[in-house]
Amino acid sequence: MNSDTSLPFLPFALPEIGEEEIAEVVDTLRSGWITTGPKAKRFEAAFVDFLGGAATGLEGIAINSATAGLHLALEALGIGPGDEVITTTYTFTATAEVVRYLGADVVLVDIDPATLNIDPRAVEAAITPRTRAIVPVHYAGLAADMTALLALARRHGLRVVEDAAHALPTTLQGQLVGTLGSDATVFSFYANKTITTGEGGMLVTRDPELAQRARVMRLHGMNRDAFDRFTAKVPSWYYEIVAPGFKYNLTDIAAALGLHQLQRAEGFQRRRTEIARRYREAFADLPLLLPPEPAAGDLHAWHLYVVRLADGAPVSRDAMIEQLFEAGIGCSVHYIPLHLHPYWRDRYDLKPEQFPHSQRAYERSLSLPLYTRMCDADVERVVQAVRRILG
Ligand SMILES: *Cc1c(COP(=O)(O)O)cnc(C)c1O
Repeated sequence: MNSDTSLPFLPFALPEIGEEEIAEVVDTLRSGWITTGPKAKRFEAAFVDFLGGAATGLEGIAINSATAGLHLALEALGIGPGDEVITTTYTFTATAEVVRYLGADVVLVDIDPATLNIDPRAVEAAITPRTRAIVPVHYAGLAADMTALLALARRHGLRVVEDAAHALPTTLQGQLVGTLGSDATVFSFYANKTITTGEGGMLVTRDPELAQRARVMRLHGMNRDAFDRFTAKVPSWYYEIVAPGFKYNLTDIAAALGLHQLQRAEGFQRRRTEIARRYREAFADLPLLLPPEPAAGDLHAWHLYVVRLADGAPVSRDAMIEQLFEAGIGCSVHYIPLHLHPYWRDRYDLKPEQFPHSQRAYERSLSLPLYTRMCDADVERVVQAVRRILG
């Protein structure tokens, strides 16, 4: 204990920003063009290249958050009052709140306790004549069962928008999340995500109409792209507003970070995998349920490392977090399920018994630090503290 507290606090998460990112931001600041412009455009192209390039048929639309991207995707799909959208209770509120922005209703369902991902059978059971879309989350960076979900969506004529805030890079049967065949996939570049622009996100889609609508709605409902294409002779000051859009564009300052973060995404993922592997081997004999591994050959983004206390554990989840904190180690809980938050609970009269797997996972889980700036000694410090507390 004493030796632990003599060390500086090990935060739960830290971004890894290198000199190249900093130089690119400075270049942007000196360039005279600091908001959405050439670098945001380059970032969109680089992102599609990362997912496989033109052959994927994808378009990338840079936005200032994943929340914005989820909102834009569902708006473009025409989700509105009277519609229902099914998602997991075991997520961050952003996944669901965007449905309410549009006046549609959220139907929360339980998870598969093995993966903590949305359970396709629970989704199927929740489908009503009002259901329009499913929003799966690739929880912690492990791909959701998209094979089942896409088949279900096809059978019932539903749209699918993937919340891929944790899933860069994640693969399912060798295919990167983003290319799996849903209507749209949305990534987050929030400060603690696997790559970051401080705040930011990327919407990718193969649907040209969805892409066009999202581009227009991203910037006030300005129909400038179409205008440019069809009336190139009119002076550039002219634009038309075709809808009451939003202010969701990504700045070039943020895109400057993104261009370099993206180049490092694979290296970041390898380091995260290394740390996850070390945790797995170090915790194998402890009363812990360790996070599921991806299928052989598939990538897990390891955005989060979530352990669940087993029945025989000598401490409660809350006590464990407290003791880790006393040892100078930050941790967190992902997530307080949506059905426990007053807004969601009261609006839909939700009870924990409706979500037994999420409830149980929530009560026993904590997220340990896992990020690329952790050195091996940091990882060992977490290992030793966890082993001491549970030993
Ligand atoms: C971080 C996160 C979001 C929101 O991302 P922002 O870029 O901060 O809007 C949405 N869903 C999940 C699951 C997240 O973890």
